[in-house]
Amino acid sequence: MTLREAGFRGEIALEEPLAGHTTWRVGGPAEILATPRDREDVLLAVRWAAASGLPWRVLGNGSNLLVQDAGVRGLVLHLRKVLDAVEVDGGRLRAGAGVLLPVLANLAARRGLAGLEFGAGIPGTLGGAIVMNAGWHEWEIGPSVEEVTWLSPEGRPETLGNADCAFRYRGSMFRDRGGIVLGATLRLTPEEPRVLVERLQRFAESRKANQPTELPSCGSVFLKPPGDFAGRLIEQAGLKGYRVGDVEVSRKHANFFVNLGQARASDVLALVEHVEGVVLDRFGVRLTREFEAW
Ligand code: FAD
Repeated sequence: MTLREAGFRGEIALEEPLAGHTTWRVGGPAEILATPRDREDVLLAVRWAAASGLPWRVLGNGSNLLVQDAGVRGLVLHLRKVLDAVEVDGGRLRAGAGVLLPVLANLAARRGLAGLEFGAGIPGTLGGAIVMNAGWHEWEIGPSVEEVTWLSPEGRPETLGNADCAFRYRGSMFRDRGGIVLGATLRLTPEEPRVLVERLQRFAESRKANQPTELPSCGSVFLKPPGDFAGRLIEQAGLKGYRVGDVEVSRKHANFFVNLGQARASDVLALVEHVEGVVLDRFGVRLTREFEAW
């Protein structure tokens, strides 16, 4: 039985190149890329994949993801801009996993709710942000999360409190265990909308000045090593501008590797490995990759 025959109502694309669905603009096709219409569609697709013996994965906005040139087999559930209902209730903001974080940050600021301003420049979905415990400087999404609705890898819908999520620097229980984040309730703090909107503008200017936001990338390639910055080490190693094929260590921010046009996943991986090797040799620091690889 096909996914459609099983009753899936959303969009289905076969052998769809994932390069167009990741911010690095790199990656081969998904055997089945399915965009669910709603939560029932998500549950149905997961049960169908399990019954068909097919592996399945979740794609948010693909902003922290490197997909191999050969692509991926099985089902990819695409949650960008689906499950996107948002509801404000006093200091609480309930949202579906597919809402883009910048949309949520702007909405919260206009409604006089503080705590998400850091997310205005993070081009992921709320689901991806929760999985990664997305953050910027001293801010992270984790502390604002009150509750998460989650489909466990076994296909059981669950509601989890903050402590169950085990948020850590760029990670969470969801990153370790998989499953699907379906939505979350965030607890935010009242503040003047004018102050919040000004803060958003300041943050946006800072990003524009310091990051190559005009070129495709996955944001930071490596996590912050203890007491240091990956970008500082890469720059000190003289690697700014170092290039493999069409992927380059950004000249603006050395922890961003930018796609100059036709980069392949194999180029990205070769560059990542080269940088890891040089930084280890020069400084004895083993860098940890921040992005997910499929
Ligand atoms: P994806 O890349 O689609 O997926 C990442 C992982 O999460 C995958 O394993 C995927 O399977 C899983 N996943 C996604 N959605 C779900 C879901 N609903 N349920 C279960 N699993 C899911 N990150 C920061 O933390 N701080 C920054 O300042 C920052 N700046 C960035 C700037 C740029 C220009 C770019 C391109 C990226 C930046 N990032 C930053 C990285 C990225 O935006 C975040 O990690 C973001 O949270 C990823 O969300 P996504 O929806 O794109 O996830």
